[in-house]
Amino acid sequence: MNNRDIFRELSFGLHFDMKRFEKDAKVLRGDKNNRPEENPESVEDEKDDMTIEDVKDASQLRKKHKIFIEGTDIPDLLSSFHELESEFKLPPSIVQVLTKSLKFNSPTPIQMQAITAMLHRRELLACAPTGSGKTIAFLIPAISHCLGKSVASACPKSKKTLKVLIVSPTRELADQIFKVAKQLVEVDSENSLLKIQILDKSTVKKFQTAGAAHANKYDILVSTPNRLVYLLNQQPALINLNTVEWLIIDESDKLFEANEKNSFREQLGTIYSACTSKYIRRAMFSATFAYDVQQWCHLNMDSVIQINIGGKNTAVKSVTQKLLFAGNERGKLMALREVVRQGFKPPALVFVQSKERAKQLFAELIYDGINVDVIHADRTPAQRENSVNATRIGKIWILICTELMGRGIDFKGINLVINYDFPTSAISYIHRIGRTGRAGRHGEAITFFTEDDKPLLRSIANVIKEAGCPIPDYMLGIKKMSKDERKKWGKSEVKRETIRTTPKDILEKNSKRKLQSKKGSGKKKKTAE
Ligand code: ADP
Ligand code: MG
Repeated sequence: MNNRDIFRELSFGLHFDMKRFEKDAKVLRGDKNNRPEENPESVEDEKDDMTIEDVKDASQLRKKHKIFIEGTDIPDLLSSFHELESEFKLPPSIVQVLTKSLKFNSPTPIQMQAITAMLHRRELLACAPTGSGKTIAFLIPAISHCLGKSVASACPKSKKTLKVLIVSPTRELADQIFKVAKQLVEVDSENSLLKIQILDKSTVKKFQTAGAAHANKYDILVSTPNRLVYLLNQQPALINLNTVEWLIIDESDKLFEANEKNSFREQLGTIYSACTSKYIRRAMFSATFAYDVQQWCHLNMDSVIQINIGGKNTAVKSVTQKLLFAGNERGKLMALREVVRQGFKPPALVFVQSKERAKQLFAELIYDGINVDVIHADRTPAQRENSVNATRIGKIWILICTELMGRGIDFKGINLVINYDFPTSAISYIHRIGRTGRAGRHGEAITFFTEDDKPLLRSIANVIKEAGCPIPDYMLGIKKMSKDERKKWGKSEVKRETIRTTPKDILEKNSKRKLQSKKGSGKKKKTAE
């Protein structure tokens, strides 16, 4: 009986929408028939050694840490980082970084289960709250695999090839993962256990001059889908992914979204198809759960383990959440100024729905004498990086941002998130407010709303209630949106009045005057926006 048969047996009676996933399955399916079981005997041996007490202990431990699992033969939990050295033979320097430099006392729940699952080369769908340590959860097994420390691995060890590919939706997030990975493998200032690289502009150039085999210079590559697909789509392809043995997708539900402007899902298909090694294993990580991703994983992965930490699609409990009726656009600006006047512990993130509105809010706040900055897709990568860094070190008190910063980014010090514009879905809400209250710290989130936001109020109010924060009863009684309405809502932005407070006629006069002076001078002048 192979894994697929076993899965069929186990899932007897469950209905999978084969038609709906057929197209994706074709594009994304690896050649499963070709893939070897990785030393199944040794996994069996391990199982035989287990006593009923062991099983009881493990399940109690999982219960205690709210670790919910689905799958068969699930490896035990990692209860301390020291086990990485004693049991899994990882170099002591890695454990030292975790326990001494980063001062982590023990693994977080997602790290406890995902690390051992991946060390045993099991395919994974992992869902754990924002700020719960998913990055380390996939980096440790990725690094161990490159060092030849995976348990019962059938992969050939000697060759120097690209072994791990980590894909994340934004450059900022890729950069963050890259930095954490580098920190883990640095033995000292001169020696590194592995070669880890981010696919940035200069690395793309290297591929353009050196060709596809350049990938083998690295053990681990971190990238956004865009850059990878660009290289894959050149004739001939400028990157070779056929040696990759771990494909790790961070924020997997985002990357699975169809109908995005640049269709991440399609790009993901291209990347999957290029990872043709018979030893390929895939792991998906996200803070929010998506039915599509789950269905896909069950259909296309081998003996997949699903891990959920806490409840599905819930906001972190370490964030105090509030909804604030702001009346209208003027009211929002006043409410924001009031938050500043009353005093808050900077830095804060303020989310708006578009880059235009980000620029407008920035133009309003810059004259208030606050250290404010703005980050959106129109800013250059260098400007974006500077803004992120300045916020991290506390130079910026308020960082205005768009959905671009909604996912993954780990700012340790963010104490407050303000949803200036209402998020377009409960998922987006969970990710945005998850920028605070990270790694067990406390945070605060205030979400402004107006009449225009009423259709989605109920679902966000429910998320807040689930997290244990008080919510007025009437909000939970608002009529539910239908599935179609919700889809439509998620796709289009709510039309809002401008944030600008300069009266329209003055703006028009100014722009007319500008136009005339342009005509007069015949020169083109760039405005701030
Ligand atoms: P996620 O990807 O789940 O949103 P991150 O991986 O960005 O979360 O981690 C969030 C924060 O938690 C980071 O600042 C990280 O340094 C910290 N962290 C990770 N693992 C641990 C741990 N075992 N103990 C304490 N803090 C941790
Ligand atoms: Mg993350």
